[in-house]
Amino acid sequence: MAANILLVEDEPAIQELIAFNLAQAGHHVLRASTAEAALTLVRNALPDLVLLDWMLPGASGVDVAKRLRADERTRHIPIIMLTARSDEQDKVTGLETGADDYITKPFSPRELLARIKAVLRRRAPQMTDDAVDVQGLRLDPVTHRVTGNGSVIDLGPTEFRLLHFFMTHPERVHSRAQLLDQVWGDHVFVEERTVDVHIRRLRSALENTRHDSLIQTVRGTGYRFSVQQ
Ligand code: CA
Repeated sequence: MAANILLVEDEPAIQELIAFNLAQAGHHVLRASTAEAALTLVRNALPDLVLLDWMLPGASGVDVAKRLRADERTRHIPIIMLTARSDEQDKVTGLETGADDYITKPFSPRELLARIKAVLRRRAPQMTDDAVDVQGLRLDPVTHRVTGNGSVIDLGPTEFRLLHFFMTHPERVHSRAQLLDQVWGDHVFVEERTVDVHIRRLRSALENTRHDSLIQTVRGTGYRFSVQQ
């Protein structure tokens, strides 16, 4: 499970150590040393998860968490707070800001990676390697294979990611901008029309097994993956 992780940590040695361990585990790491730098990075592309140091110069990690939670676009990004404090009250405050988990320094790389995995599994199921199965349509992230009623369906890499996202977030409407953010990781430089092109390709690949009807157009809003007609 490789994720794009935004690491926000002002202590250079700690930042270096955590980034090294994340990269070793196969994650792609973006780094920021201040709240402002972190928010700028998030504006450009949504990370899969944010590791957020509590104590930062200027605006704190708690401020960053609150900002992310207050914005519709960034509301669902999983956040793990890093802190040197072990005070129970701080823990409560951290969780109240909307952090998904909380890890107290010093921690072992193994503990950090386990927490990341647990949070992603809970909050971002499309990041995990679990196979998903909906009405005979099966997607396996490990083998990178999609089958419809047992027969192999050939998909391009973007259609695969798109389908994986849909299958792990069924029954809700996703706007084109949201899909660009979630599937392309970029809502700034990719045109919304691009989404329609890939939806068309995905539907046509699913036509043979009649799974194309799972991907529904919601007029004026976007797309939805649904088992209900
Ligand atoms: Ca710090």
